[in-house]
Amino acid sequence: MRRVEILDTTLRDGSQAEGISFSVEDKLRIASRLDHLGVAFIEGGWPVSNEKDREFFARASEMKWENARITAFGSTCRANISPQDDENIKALIESQASATAIFGKSWDLHVNVALRVSLEENLRMIHDSVQYLKSQGRYVIYDAEHFFDGFKANEEYALATLHAAKDGGADVLALCDTNGGTLPGEVRRIIQKLQKTLAHPLGIHAHNDSGFGAANAVAAVEEGAVQVHGTINGYGERCGNSNLCSVIPVLELKLGIRCLPEGNLKHLTYVSGFIDEIANVVPDERQPFVGKSAFAHKGGIHVDAMMKHEMTYEHIQPTLVGNERRILISELSGASNVVAKALAHGLDLNKKSPEARAVLNDIQRLESEGYSFESAEASFELLLKKATGSYTKLFDLLSFRVIMEKRDPNEEPITEATLKISVNGEEHHTVGEGDGPVHALDTALRKALTAFYPGIDHIKLTDFKVRVINSKEGTAAKVRTIIDSQDSDGDSWSTVGVSTNLVEASWQALVDSVEFGLLKQMENKTPKQDA
Ligand SMILES: [Zn+2]
Repeated sequence: MRRVEILDTTLRDGSQAEGISFSVEDKLRIASRLDHLGVAFIEGGWPVSNEKDREFFARASEMKWENARITAFGSTCRANISPQDDENIKALIESQASATAIFGKSWDLHVNVALRVSLEENLRMIHDSVQYLKSQGRYVIYDAEHFFDGFKANEEYALATLHAAKDGGADVLALCDTNGGTLPGEVRRIIQKLQKTLAHPLGIHAHNDSGFGAANAVAAVEEGAVQVHGTINGYGERCGNSNLCSVIPVLELKLGIRCLPEGNLKHLTYVSGFIDEIANVVPDERQPFVGKSAFAHKGGIHVDAMMKHEMTYEHIQPTLVGNERRILISELSGASNVVAKALAHGLDLNKKSPEARAVLNDIQRLESEGYSFESAEASFELLLKKATGSYTKLFDLLSFRVIMEKRDPNEEPITEATLKISVNGEEHHTVGEGDGPVHALDTALRKALTAFYPGIDHIKLTDFKVRVINSKEGTAAKVRTIIDSQDSDGDSWSTVGVSTNLVEASWQALVDSVEFGLLKQMENKTPKQDA
């Protein structure tokens, strides 16, 4: 089986993305995950550029790496100086990284205008830097910066720079589309041309400024490249780098080329989410392969066909990349969505059964009132339980009152909620204070329930979103609230409420959240007691 090496540069090129900054600790955690995923190289940073990257390499050199070689990034030596005297090259050696990636100029324009050295001196800088790093026992990747643009401008010179690196002993010549404007067809033609005169392992380092970062990487591999540089989730400067979350599955699943140790592809979705989490980036739901919506089916006809055969609307099996199929419930849904969704929750509804019809009618009615179950699966599951008789009522609301008072114009208002509920026929009256009405009601409800359901202490609200719907009606507009909750097992769920009154809509979502969490605890407990 053909193999391609993956060089992950999430920690170097990826960290140059707008809004992304990694601490040393973040970098080490990400590197460990990438190593576990099984990439061949982890480009950790530029040791000469800052203290943080130096510390990363120092700590990484003391860790054990299972699959990846930690790679330090830098440039060729400066003009009129030998590599052993160059601060940047020294920093690469001192980093103790066993692999180094150094970039040099391929484009005569850059040599003349940016570097302001002779074309010959640039060739010397490339050759000597590579040769010196090789003499120090390093694996050397030569990054030919602006290679495709340089090749188009001055083919002969661009080729000469690759020969300089090859003669210096570079292990791989990585062709960079630094400005990201090259098209896949050009990548193919240029590599085909190179292969005729330059017999040497090639890599591809593409940026995504035309949206072709991953496409260019795949095109290069199809033309024989043996190494792909890219980032998880496509992070990177401007429009990002080749997205490894697309490149890796495409190479493995579509072209039969191995990039990761066998069986590791299924960790990809997890690694994608993990890195978004550390980078504090909102995950792109539409991201191919690993996005939340990548295998989400909404239209009734699609779902009906999917139930008969999953390949009807999916290009790969989601589990291959560790993702999952999701059946979305919406007013577009046919009965098949409900049946499929119910099945996913362990409830077997026949498509033509009266229960399935009843649930579908409920959903359509509620959606016309403004509910949306697409992101409120827990509320949907409670609806299913109610329709099938597997729902247990935990408490009844008798009444609530919320008072908000601002005593001083310069101070935050105080909110107090008074709640009357009944549990097993017993009435309870509690008062809760909070930063706002939802918080106050939540506090009061917890106080009331904790004696009966101590597990409520393990459930916490993590997010609260409000959206105005049918705003045409002005003040009578309805609001939809979505509450996200989490328990101590780390499971999270979302619930929905709709009303013209914000507090009432919040209360509905809050009750669903608490009921869902408590019912889940009870269901999990039952089998354990039997055992
Ligand atoms: Zn780059």
